[in-house]
Amino acid sequence: MSLPECWSCKYIFKWGELLFFIDGHKKCPKCGEKQYITTHSHWKSGFYSLALLLILFILNIFDLTVTLTAIFTFLSLVVVLSLIPFKLEFTNDREPFF
Ligand SMILES: [Zn+2]
Repeated sequence: MSLPECWSCKYIFKWGELLFFIDGHKKCPKCGEKQYITTHSHWKSGFYSLALLLILFILNIFDLTVTLTAIFTFLSLVVVLSLIPFKLEFTNDREPFF
């Protein structure tokens, strides 16, 4: 797994730089070019969010206590959010969602 790079100057983004996106794009800190998330990687990060929902659904079946469910939910959320930046790919133009 590797972090995405700038489509223009090949700058490799740091994990912390990929947690927040403003208006669906990110600016490269090196060359300043706008980075748009590709449709393909949008789908991949969507899949991770879906996996998170599935985990929550499975937890519901086990009838755990509220505290345990909250802990598992929090941990799954941390795992999913920390994995998503690795799945991102950038392009120079805004791509359609589908
Ligand atoms: Zn760049």
